[in-house]
Amino acid sequence: MRNERHRLLAAEHRSLRVSSAGRLRVGVGYPNSYHLGMSSLAYQWVVELAASCADVGVERFFAGSPCDGHTLEGGNPLGDLDVLAWSCSFELDAANLLATLNAAGIPLRRQERNDGHPLLVVGGAVASINPLPLAPAVDVFVLGSAELLWPALLETALEISDRKRLLEVLAERDGYFVPSHHLDPDGKPSGRRRRVEKRDAEMGERAMVPVSHVVTPHTEYRNRGLVEMSRGCPEKCRYCWVSYNYGRLRSYPAENILERIERLRTITDRVGFVATAVGDHPRLAEILERCRSLGLNVALSSLRIPAMRPEVLKPLAASGARSVTIAPETGTDELRRRLNKPITNRTIVEAVEIAQRCGISNLKMYFIIGLPEETDEDLLGIAELLQEVHSVMLVHGRERGHMGTLHAGFNVLVPKPYTPYSRERMLTRKEARRRMSLVEKALGGLGNFRLTRPAYRESLWQCFLGRGDVRTFPALERAATGIAFGSLLAKFRPEIEASTLEKVEGDPVWRFITSAPVTSSR
Ligand code: SF4
Repeated sequence: MRNERHRLLAAEHRSLRVSSAGRLRVGVGYPNSYHLGMSSLAYQWVVELAASCADVGVERFFAGSPCDGHTLEGGNPLGDLDVLAWSCSFELDAANLLATLNAAGIPLRRQERNDGHPLLVVGGAVASINPLPLAPAVDVFVLGSAELLWPALLETALEISDRKRLLEVLAERDGYFVPSHHLDPDGKPSGRRRRVEKRDAEMGERAMVPVSHVVTPHTEYRNRGLVEMSRGCPEKCRYCWVSYNYGRLRSYPAENILERIERLRTITDRVGFVATAVGDHPRLAEILERCRSLGLNVALSSLRIPAMRPEVLKPLAASGARSVTIAPETGTDELRRRLNKPITNRTIVEAVEIAQRCGISNLKMYFIIGLPEETDEDLLGIAELLQEVHSVMLVHGRERGHMGTLHAGFNVLVPKPYTPYSRERMLTRKEARRRMSLVEKALGGLGNFRLTRPAYRESLWQCFLGRGDVRTFPALERAATGIAFGSLLAKFRPEIEASTLEKVEGDPVWRFITSAPVTSSR
């Protein structure tokens, strides 16, 4: 275990010195492997923000090996630290978070811990989507932008050593959910809590742009440093939690982005731009051109289809990108319009044509099955769209001498809290199989084509946690013991099916978080 930790640390290139010494000793965790955690810009940003606080010593930790309840840097037991904080973006990782506590010998339930145990903090999308299933374990949830809430929490913890008083103070502020104060004796929220997002002014010329401060070959992107371009999205797709909670699109100034790329260049020549709407940055072409002139290899996270323009794709291809990801979601214009994504199949095919002409040969397309009012015609439309796109790629492949790869990834709709679909039911497994089989039969055999089927059980579990409350905690506790997923779903089948395969009626208990506007003053 020690050797493995040293091997990972030795492979890292860092642009920031992070000290583990400080009056407040903080562990920043990711509830999954080192590989996935270090691939997350949000995680790296939370580490950097903690390291920027005077008197705070920071170490990292991850679920499972090689940390197993210890910090990565020093191999220190997690129970010896003052604060343990997780950045948790995926519901499926909630059980890993509890498994880490088990490995560290820290009681899972808050009521079984005392002031000698670390303060447990959880932020990230999971905290804001629905913190209730984890509420019996966690002391403080951070609801919103880490920049606004996480250093402030640490500074308050430095000032107030008394745990009871610290929680009282945080419970009074917007942006924190403190279960010991905000839940009634039945475990129900006793009032509304307010989420706090970065507003226009905080994204302006004084904004610090999140970038990776560590690159390593042991990530999804292999030595690629990530840069955040913007927050929010110009669209409001009806299934998308991000669009209803992060507010409208706010881009960082190009100057700030380029300045941070200078820091990144000290450790890598591979850059990845990430955001929900990367292609919508108003000065993206200029930023890409600058990266090309610096000799940087560039990649973008998925592009909104309207952003697939030559002025974006040409410099991207010139910087080495050969692949792009888009999300048509469904196969007919009509259902897409009802999703509030009014993009036609014609526009999608034209966008692929542009990408091919610009030299981006590989394409990944994401689809969701199980959308409300979806018909077999919509599903057959997916097959037709893929065939048409494949034909375009084939024509360009022949001209080029080799065809790129087309990858279609499918998910089942997981209705998310705070979206217009939040009360919808999920597909049954049987129906999900039927719908996928309809698409696959209609597709027939295509060359240079790969299809990924939905991970149905994971989606069901995700929906269950998204709609859960404190009574969901025992299922999470079981999951944290490493029980096989199939056995877990079988054991809790009645609860899981009742909350996922039926429409939500009445006033759901998870609906207690409101979002502060991003344009006006708070
Ligand atoms: S374009 Fe993407 S991020 Fe924006 S609302 Fe739609 S799904 Fe969400």
